[in-house]
Amino acid sequence: MEHDPQLLLNPIQVPHAQEPDRTSTGPRLPVAFLPAGQHTLRWFCDAQGKLLRFLHIHEGRHMPWGKRCRTLCPDVYRQLAPSGAYPPACEICALAEQRLDQSIRCETRVMLYGKLYYTTNTSRYWQANQAYLVITPPEIHAGLAQFLTRGGDAQREPFAAMMNPRRPGPALVMQVQKYPKASVTLASFTAATFPPLTLGAWYRPLRECWLASFSQSDYVAVLETIKAEQPQLS
Ligand SMILES: [Zn+2]
Repeated sequence: MEHDPQLLLNPIQVPHAQEPDRTSTGPRLPVAFLPAGQHTLRWFCDAQGKLLRFLHIHEGRHMPWGKRCRTLCPDVYRQLAPSGAYPPACEICALAEQRLDQSIRCETRVMLYGKLYYTTNTSRYWQANQAYLVITPPEIHAGLAQFLTRGGDAQREPFAAMMNPRRPGPALVMQVQKYPKASVTLASFTAATFPPLTLGAWYRPLRECWLASFSQSDYVAVLETIKAEQPQLS
């Protein structure tokens, strides 16, 4: 089955309204936050042919054990998935405004499947030859669209091959900058073609992966880390 790359860039805004299998213990890919640096990544579609999913999230403060919790913003998802149960208004959005604190406001992120082949920024959480659920800045959406437009028809065929994990395909060389402003620059396809990917039970629709739907407990956990912190008085 061939996919139209341009079509696949259309964001999937509507998440699952119910709680699908948030608590299931099935195999999962590690979730990785795209770090700064140069990376060679093969982006690929989920089993429904979707390349990316938008997320509208709040980040909590670091927990004592080093982890950071995240929640979907109820104000956004009340619009996108009205059948879910939400608090009457997002208290985190309200606190962000009250405290004039950018770091807790609702941020847009994009989630994609990606297999990493090379990186200048290896860490425990970001290693070559590993597939990830990659969380990226929203700039990647425009970056991918621009890359396709710029390359014209010549770019569409390798792009379609890259996105289909069941076929051999190239990867994309990209440059990611975090500061002072997030940017994702897609440079070129690799000259090398990589073999089809080994897909496991983790290979699920993106809308069922990580923060699949609004969860009251995630929300409360994030809110509490923020409330626990003394607002800075200026
Ligand atoms: Zn919010």
